[in-house]
Amino acid sequence: MADRIPETPFALISGSAGWGVRFPDDLDQPGIAVVSRGLVFDTPWGATDNWQLIEIAADLTPDGKPRRFLNVFTHGWPLDAIDHSTHRRVAWVLQQAGARKIVADSTCGSLNKALQPRDFIIPVDLIDFSQTQYSLLAGRFKHVCLSEQMFCPALATTLQTVAEKHWPAPGRVLGHGKQIVVTHDWGPRFASRAESRAFQLLGADAINQSICPEANSAREIGACFASASYVVCYEPGIATADDDIDAIHRDLAMPASRISLQAMVEASLTDECGCARLRVQRPPDYATVAQGGRRG
Ligand SMILES: [Zn+2]
Repeated sequence: MADRIPETPFALISGSAGWGVRFPDDLDQPGIAVVSRGLVFDTPWGATDNWQLIEIAADLTPDGKPRRFLNVFTHGWPLDAIDHSTHRRVAWVLQQAGARKIVADSTCGSLNKALQPRDFIIPVDLIDFSQTQYSLLAGRFKHVCLSEQMFCPALATTLQTVAEKHWPAPGRVLGHGKQIVVTHDWGPRFASRAESRAFQLLGADAINQSICPEANSAREIGACFASASYVVCYEPGIATADDDIDAIHRDLAMPASRISLQAMVEASLTDECGCARLRVQRPPDYATVAQGGRRG
């Protein structure tokens, strides 16, 4: 039987950044408690599982109140199938929860020879020619989604501040000031040499399989979204590195998980960032059927 969706404005979409870490248990951070886990929610497009609800003690939060956040394992991807529509179910659940501040963590490949494996990146913009194939908007007439600011500057600042305390050298923390652009391929295969070159020429610095559809979906529900990702390799033909992907994961999964958790602790509920205003409600007249139809 499906669980009831808890209400909370905070959400963390976990991804490959923390694979292998029992979250948040392995972080052993005082004041963090799992309220419930193994949650399964029904959506109009089927069930989504591997959710948990985590509580942060009042003495840790900026407003001095206990804070709960929803967390889904590895983007909500099913463990036994390739499913490109997953982000729609995840975003629908977060919409029902009333989520306003969403952080997603992940890993990515570099398309920029100066962006090195082990760098922690907080992208400022995206290139996603597919956009979301699985929109959750109720038709084209009720809302318009604008893309001037796909990543929340306020959440990005929080992430950067936290990451600068926890991210280990030699990796760097590269925030919005570095103007990093991320792009997308659906996977499961990774970009070819020619695709990597093409994305590089178009201005993308990094690529992965989750950030862009999640940013699109967050905009569709009017929530702020920021991406916490770290580079695990160069894409083919970009540059070479001696580092080993599995070693990078082993070294960085814990600090990445700690940064994600601390971002949930410190995130502000401010609307001054302006993200919510980029999902625009259209006047009802726009849905009038022109051929003599009735309004409303
Ligand atoms: Zn925002």
